[in-house]
Amino acid sequence: MTGLAELRSIVGAAGLLPPDADLRRYEIAPNLLTGAAAFLVRPSTVDEVRAVLAWARENATRLVVQGANSGLVGAGLPDASGGWGVLSTERLREPFSVDPRARTLTAGAGWRLDEINERLAEHSLQLPVEVGSSPSVGGMVATNTAGSHVIRYGDVRRRLLGVQAVVPDDRGTVFDRLKPLRKCNEGLDVSQLFVGTGGEYGVVTAASVELAPLPRSRAAAWLAVEEDRMPDVLNVFEHSCAEWLSACEVASPSALALLADRHGALLRRVPSPQHHAMLVEVGAPDGSAEERLLAVLADLDERGWLIGAQVGGPAEMWQVRHTIPEITERMSPVWSFDVSTPRSEIAAFRRDVLARLAARHPEITPIELGHYGDGGLHLILPLPVQVAADPDAVDGVRRLVYDTAVRDHGGTFSAEHGIGPKNADMYRRYVSEDVRELSAALKRRFDPDGILGWSLSSPDRVSR
Ligand SMILES: Cc1cc2nc3c(=O)[nH]c(=O)nc-3n(C[C@H](O)[C@H](O)[C@H](O)COP(=O)(O)OP(=O)(O)OC[C@H]3O[C@@H](n4cnc5c(N)ncnc54)[C@H](O)[C@@H]3O)c2cc1C
Repeated sequence: MTGLAELRSIVGAAGLLPPDADLRRYEIAPNLLTGAAAFLVRPSTVDEVRAVLAWARENATRLVVQGANSGLVGAGLPDASGGWGVLSTERLREPFSVDPRARTLTAGAGWRLDEINERLAEHSLQLPVEVGSSPSVGGMVATNTAGSHVIRYGDVRRRLLGVQAVVPDDRGTVFDRLKPLRKCNEGLDVSQLFVGTGGEYGVVTAASVELAPLPRSRAAAWLAVEEDRMPDVLNVFEHSCAEWLSACEVASPSALALLADRHGALLRRVPSPQHHAMLVEVGAPDGSAEERLLAVLADLDERGWLIGAQVGGPAEMWQVRHTIPEITERMSPVWSFDVSTPRSEIAAFRRDVLARLAARHPEITPIELGHYGDGGLHLILPLPVQVAADPDAVDGVRRLVYDTAVRDHGGTFSAEHGIGPKNADMYRRYVSEDVRELSAALKRRFDPDGILGWSLSSPDRVSR
């Protein structure tokens, strides 16, 4: 590829991995989606990001922005042509500034969730995003990461105070909204344009977020309950623990069964794996989390709603939950759906979608893993080989699930993983034309040559 010497002069030797370097970890996602990169560029400052974007425009080269590469819809990967470069944010480490009194953090895009929370612990603070991966700051903004603590702390959008982002327009504009203000009412909040829109409009180089105090005590339990009782059980928890309930997850018996082979010890932490299991976590500002949890369990038991319960340390209970997607992400052929509905609809949605699937494909055993407390459901369908080999059959299954969620139960086809090549057709199917047009207009304003990302928001792919 021509122009790489010039690119190297912008970012230095450590900032550019050429095509003959080992780029594999940037070309394969955790769920085995793949792409092929022409090169990897790793700018370490805002000025370098600007210069790299200008270089890409000059050389008519498409770039895909990548953070921790933990995304599950393929949006952070290059396509299969081998002609796109990957712009990794891993060297964007400035600034890192904690203000413990204001409970805010301003961090460069390359910081990862795990290392941030490790550092915040000394201040008894946390960035309260609970996911099985360790995404980057930029990736969390770009995908509006949600996870299992949304019921208490909200998603990244709710914690975001401001963003610094560079766009590949004619001026190489840097939008700098890093002031960690909780109140700011100056008209258009440009930071929000970069939330949940992937790397389509620009490169997020840093973000300011509001932190939460670490609870003094936490307690978790796996409960076995009848499917129809799950909404009632959740309501009892919400009324008894109010805002201290920090998670409510659900795993179906088919999800738990995946642990039997190699993770028998984890399975023993779940009381009755042949029933639906709910994982609940309570976090308290004093030492009372376990006491509160036990009081609710006693109440549920008295009502006759509890088949079984096992209380344990949060880390060991979460290990059960996080191991299941590690297994399903490596299953093949499989189709994973990341849907959500209004919470009051989730029981009806589950009933409808499972009945329709059973009628059309009785050979498929659905695996359910849900952020139930937020109306979210990861529905994972191991596909029989003959279905997987027939694109029309796969399409039929996808439409069945998505139409049931979106059209029949007021939900969404993308609860938390965002938009990428994996679900772009559904973006066109369900997102209104008005919204798609506005998104395309913003794309043209920020990225007139269409050098960034998959251009999913733009109907016309505009590379020169
Ligand atoms: C085991 C596992 C569990 C998960 N659980 C959850 C969960 O519970 N909830 C949830 O929401 N997600 C979950 N995810 C998905 C994933 O972790 C999130 O989508 C995460 O926010 C992606 O961040 P990343 O840094 O890895 O971004 P990447 O995967 O690198 O990129 C994702 C998207 O963001 C864009 N992007 C990345 N960095 C930037 C930047 N600096 N500027 C502009 N655009 C950028 C990319 O172009 C791409 O469009 C899970 C993933 C795994 C593997």
